Amino acid sequence: MSDGNITQQNLKWDATRDACDVGSTLINRIVDLEHIPFPANVIFPDATPDVIRKSRLLLAPQHFGKDSQDLLLSFHSFLVRTSSHTILVDLCCGNDKNRPTRAAWHMQSGPFLDNLAAVGVKPEDIDYVMCTHLHSDHVGWNTRLDDGRWIPTFPKAQYLFAEKKFQYWNQIVKSGQSENVLYGSYEDSILPVINSGQAVFVTSSHIVETGIYLEPAFGHTPGNVIIHVESNGKKAILSGDVIHHPVQLAHSKWSTNF
Ligand SMILES: [Zn+2]
Repeated sequence: MSDGNITQQNLKWDATRDACDVGSTLINRIVDLEHIPFPANVIFPDATPDVIRKSRLLLAPQHFGKDSQDLLLSFHSFLVRTSSHTILVDLCCGNDKNRPTRAAWHMQSGPFLDNLAAVGVKPEDIDYVMCTHLHSDHVGWNTRLDDGRWIPTFPKAQYLFAEKKFQYWNQIVKSGQSENVLYGSYEDSILPVINSGQAVFVTSSHIVETGIYLEPAFGHTPGNVIIHVESNGKKAILSGDVIHHPVQLAHSKWSTNF
């Protein structure tokens, strides 16, 4: 599974390029929405005012509101380019999605595809789309609106769905209970991909290519996965919502309300 000989040397995120080299594999952050305020103690019940004050000193202004109790959230994809494949991981909120109870995600018209183009990638260049889980802020750019119809944004991509997480949400949707969790994203961001024939159901330990593989990380949702990126002895993990915000790196025992 692994390409072996992984070193413990830390990787560095290059803030200037908003990217990271993992051996010969390049990871870029592709932003959909960022600096979205959300009250810290609503996400993390253990976030007391004193802890928030200390954390803000370290993490403002990028990750914390300067003068408030708000965390700033980022909704972004990771673009992973190996020598063989171009892959997008976690597809954010999307444009034109009807999410009236989620103001930040509702009927957006953001520059996600322009941000992708800025690093030299067109939608038809994407070989694989993978979502760590199927919450609506991780599947939005799976599809785009075309003449009133939702179609896959990436026409040549295989969309890999870990079977276990798909079965879970499929059951929830069939029982009519998805409204409060998925906000309609199953219908506008998942079903059109399945209907197009581009969905491929895989195990939660699927190997995409040497050094790129899924690992089960159930908890945030049933069937949740993380994605490993390994190349030339270097290793990164795309953790999805196992970690919601950098403040958790200092408070690793905090659990979230999500
Ligand atoms: Zn989530």
